[in-house]
Amino acid sequence: MPRPIIATIFTDAIAHNIKRAHQASGAKVWATIKANAYGHGIEHIFKGLQGADGLAMLDFAEAQLVRDLGWDKPVLMLEGGFEVADYKLAERLNLTMVIHCIEQIEWLEQAALSQPLNVYLKVNSGMNRVGFAPDAYVSIYRRVRALACVGEITCMTHFANADLENGIVEPMRRFGTATAELMAENPNLPRSCSNSAATLAHPEAHFDWVRPGIMTYGGSPFGDKGAAECGLEAAMALDSEIIAVQHIQAGESVGYGSKFTAIEDMTIGVVACGYADGYPRHAATGTPVLVDGVRTRLVGRVSMDMLMVDLNPVPAAKVGSPVQLWGKDIAIDDVARASETIGYELMCALALRVPVRVV
Ligand SMILES: *Cc1c(COP(=O)(O)O)cnc(C)c1O
Repeated sequence: MPRPIIATIFTDAIAHNIKRAHQASGAKVWATIKANAYGHGIEHIFKGLQGADGLAMLDFAEAQLVRDLGWDKPVLMLEGGFEVADYKLAERLNLTMVIHCIEQIEWLEQAALSQPLNVYLKVNSGMNRVGFAPDAYVSIYRRVRALACVGEITCMTHFANADLENGIVEPMRRFGTATAELMAENPNLPRSCSNSAATLAHPEAHFDWVRPGIMTYGGSPFGDKGAAECGLEAAMALDSEIIAVQHIQAGESVGYGSKFTAIEDMTIGVVACGYADGYPRHAATGTPVLVDGVRTRLVGRVSMDMLMVDLNPVPAAKVGSPVQLWGKDIAIDDVARASETIGYELMCALALRVPVRVV
């Protein structure tokens, strides 16, 4: 019998969350599916993506995959090309390409395409990762606009702090500086700025297309506001079972490093899930876990293949009792917070050895 661990992917939750992005923004939605759909599996969630207006990613193999699966709506490559040949591929697969640096303009010129390619021209609005400086943007725009092989140009940026109340004030000012002259010439110039946090919290940045990632999967982009409060549904559950039970006395310790010591007599459950399954090793004692429908807590250090939980609140629990590590009842963001990380990282880290069931 295989280990009792399993991940469940809820395609209806993906569809719901995309609808939520439409409702919240009134804009067209690029469902962001980079990193194999934040660990959910592009093929697994493909049915749930049908309500999106486009799919955004950055790996060309993933672009090929969605075309092979029959996706005929727009595809956006968030990092653009990495060499000249990528622009030929983009032409063949009809991809929209981000342009964030001069080298990419040169590669596009060298590719000598016969079809016009739609592009997203990126402003560096203060994150200082990729994009053109606001004061260089108009001349860059004009250079790209003059290329016969370029179709529609959308002005874009990406926010470093959209999860904060005043986090996009300065970036929006810079984006406005970069695009003001162009907007005066063409008030219909398409724009795209919002990740999940801005889609949910900053209407002034919605414009024509939003690019929700984490919210598509039912994760919250905010540190202080849960996914349910944002109207989102979890698209991934990680479930397992109790595989052993220990009765210990006050003063006994649990697990590697003896990091947890019981202050009363306890029943400890051993769960078939460890860091080699993608559960965070740094999850602290107290991290929420659901056993037999009862919310309890992780105790001690997470091992490679097992972790231990407090069964005192669940006296009926036994070998074979169901355990939810995260999903509809245990928010992945709560597990992430107890591990000093974010839900994004846990989703992306789901291990290959965990079997996946799609519902
Ligand atoms: C990943 C990414 C997004 C989505 O971000 P979330 O915080 O997951 O919503 C949007 N735009 C760009 C450029 C990205 O790289």
